[in-house]
Amino acid sequence: MTLPLLPITLVDVFGSSLMILFALLCVGLAVRLRRQDRDNLVWTYLLWFSYALAGFAISRAVGHITEHVSLVLDQGHTWKILKPYSGAINTISFVVVASITLFFERIWKIYQQIARDKLALEDTHRQLRYLNRHLEDLVAARTRELTHSESKYRRIFELSRDPILVADETGVLIDFNPSAMRLLAIDSESGPDRALSLPDLLQHPGDWDKLRGELLATGFINDEELELAGRARQSLNVLLSATRENTAENRTVRFHFLLKDISQRKAMTRQLLQADKLASIGQLAAGIAHEINNPLSIILGYTQLLIRSEDAATERYGDLRTIEKHARACKTIVEDLLKFSRSTQTRKEAGSLHQAVEEVVNVVRHHFELDNVMITCELDPAVPPMVIDKEKIEQVFMNLVMNAKQAIGKNGAIQVTSRFDPERKLVTVQVKDTGGGIEARHLPRIFDPFFTTKKTGEGTGLGLSVSYGIVQHHNGEILVASEPGTGSTFSVVLPVQQSELVVPQADLAVPQPESRKVGS
Ligand code: ADP
Repeated sequence: MTLPLLPITLVDVFGSSLMILFALLCVGLAVRLRRQDRDNLVWTYLLWFSYALAGFAISRAVGHITEHVSLVLDQGHTWKILKPYSGAINTISFVVVASITLFFERIWKIYQQIARDKLALEDTHRQLRYLNRHLEDLVAARTRELTHSESKYRRIFELSRDPILVADETGVLIDFNPSAMRLLAIDSESGPDRALSLPDLLQHPGDWDKLRGELLATGFINDEELELAGRARQSLNVLLSATRENTAENRTVRFHFLLKDISQRKAMTRQLLQADKLASIGQLAAGIAHEINNPLSIILGYTQLLIRSEDAATERYGDLRTIEKHARACKTIVEDLLKFSRSTQTRKEAGSLHQAVEEVVNVVRHHFELDNVMITCELDPAVPPMVIDKEKIEQVFMNLVMNAKQAIGKNGAIQVTSRFDPERKLVTVQVKDTGGGIEARHLPRIFDPFFTTKKTGEGTGLGLSVSYGIVQHHNGEILVASEPGTGSTFSVVLPVQQSELVVPQADLAVPQPESRKVGS
């Protein structure tokens, strides 16, 4: 049985024509897509694929149509000639499609890598553009941060109440804060460039080697007590703590020092010791004075009796007078001792401090002028009436002006001034002289009983201790400032206490020198 060939021939011819049409439409579409994006590898691949497919479709369709036409026209031999060509074109088309696909697979991988690199490059480019645009802002912000941090630590350094010093390995100061400048009397012009060195500021030069050795060995020092030379090379007591810093950049060593001025605390301790000493001497003096006072009065009394019955021309009379003179001198000392221990009565009443001062000045003025020592008074009219033991206050000022005169000798000036501080309710009377001043080593001792630099017979060393006792009894204090060779200023500071009762006082307490200040 033979099947009819016509339907299948028609389907084959029609399908082949459609194949050509579809292949050309595919090419057309691929061409359009490629035009839209020439860089797109997928479209490129599609285009070439469509070309190959179109080649294949045309070759195959033309082959089949030709075959049917030649069979219908009974031209079978023509088809036989064409058939190998059509098969070859088909094979080539498949090879091309396969090659394009394989090639595309490689290209696709490279393309993807390039696309990734492109993205990374674009990202880097964006970052670079951002940095480029904001570089100045970033630098400015970082500089601001650094400046802020630097100024924060600089402020701590500058505002520290404790002196801070930075020195190199040899002790030359690299930096110091204002507190250090004040303490060590470094003037502002001698900035860190000027070669100031810590060893030069130490009172005992050997201390530097000890400090440096310890810092190099252990890296730190805690609360070492030292003596430094402060203003006018006056000795200062300080507690020194230090640390070593190894600078990273050039392997050198720096020392950071923190000082604590304990001069005042030391002075207070000294004063407390002094107070203890003064208290014991006071008690002793009071005891001895009481014991000696009576027998001395009896000796003096009997001597005076004997003098009265003795002829003034005799040698015995002269001897008795000598006994009387020395007994009187002893009595003065005993009386001073009694005053010092305040075993005498004190009577405070409303009175004028200025009157007391002026009376003293009037008594001594003429006498002083004989030695060309001018005494002047400049009293503040605002000073109110006060409750004082006038006699004893006169004794204080008499003692101060006499000391001033003795310090001057001849040719000089004594200035007595008063000032009222209404806020603190304090009256200050100053006695300033142009005398020889007080040596620094004597300064802490001048209020000690029996401390005197005067020749025997000229001073007992009780004047200032008695004055101190009196002023202290008025709840005041005596301050002294003195520079050897220039003069001294004694300040009596008294509180104005209007409410104070006018009562006789006779306490036997010895001075309590906590309120006394020596030096200023
Ligand atoms: P005295 O006057 O009997 O020596 P003071 O107690 O009054 O005893 O004084 C003690 C010491 O203080 C004096 O010896 C003197 O060295 C010193 N002094 C006191 N006042 C002055 C002064 N104005 N100028 C210098 N030295 C003074």
